[in-house]
Amino acid sequence: MSHDEARKIRLIMSLRRGGITDSKVLGALERVPRELFVDPAFLDQAWEDRALPIAQGQTISQPFIVAFMTQALELTDRTKVLEIGTGSGYQAAVLAKVARRVYTIERHKELMTTAEERFARMKLHNIHTRIGDGWRGWPEQAPFQAIIVTAAAPHVPEALLEQLGEGGRLVIPIGRSSDLQKLVRYRRTKDGIVEEPLLDVRFVPLVPGDVKASATR
Ligand code: SAH
Repeated sequence: MSHDEARKIRLIMSLRRGGITDSKVLGALERVPRELFVDPAFLDQAWEDRALPIAQGQTISQPFIVAFMTQALELTDRTKVLEIGTGSGYQAAVLAKVARRVYTIERHKELMTTAEERFARMKLHNIHTRIGDGWRGWPEQAPFQAIIVTAAAPHVPEALLEQLGEGGRLVIPIGRSSDLQKLVRYRRTKDGIVEEPLLDVRFVPLVPGDVKASATR
């Protein structure tokens, strides 16, 4: 068994111990080669359970958080899911293994170009990409049964709640400062939106506005 293979098995076991019980989610993390998504300088840590830096001062999330958020979305092979914050593309690739179709938005063109190359290498043809501001969601493709935001917002973006279908789940880190964020699941029910705090987390901020607008701030 290769060194990487042993680390991978150790990681999957620790995810299971940590409460990831959905075998579809565990299977997806096992099958998506995380070494393809990390910066070459951190290749030796690809199968460690930790977040790692990527280009543009962003991060690829910790595998446990990727697994936890994916599980919290309650996906099936019929679900259409929207992701805000493509980053390395790792979370999108995991979603693509579990859901029917993935729509993912990133504000940094350079990050998206690299992520798209990885999707092509993995032959993940069910991922659709857009460069732009995730605060607005993807209205042309709404409603979504699942929406995941992989950057922290001070409050839940109204457009994303609007694009959530009946019974749909939105999982998003909410918090202003980098050390006080709560992962929250919003669910659209017949009686309105139900909010459920899940976990303390630490994410990079969801930047408001498009790239040009925020560069002048
Ligand atoms: N899901 C990623 C982790 C992303 S880190 C992965 O698996 O690697 C958060 C990402 O959100 C960053 O790439 C950042 O550029 C992006 N982001 C931040 N604000 C955004 C916005 N308003 N619209 C779209 N993307 C945004």
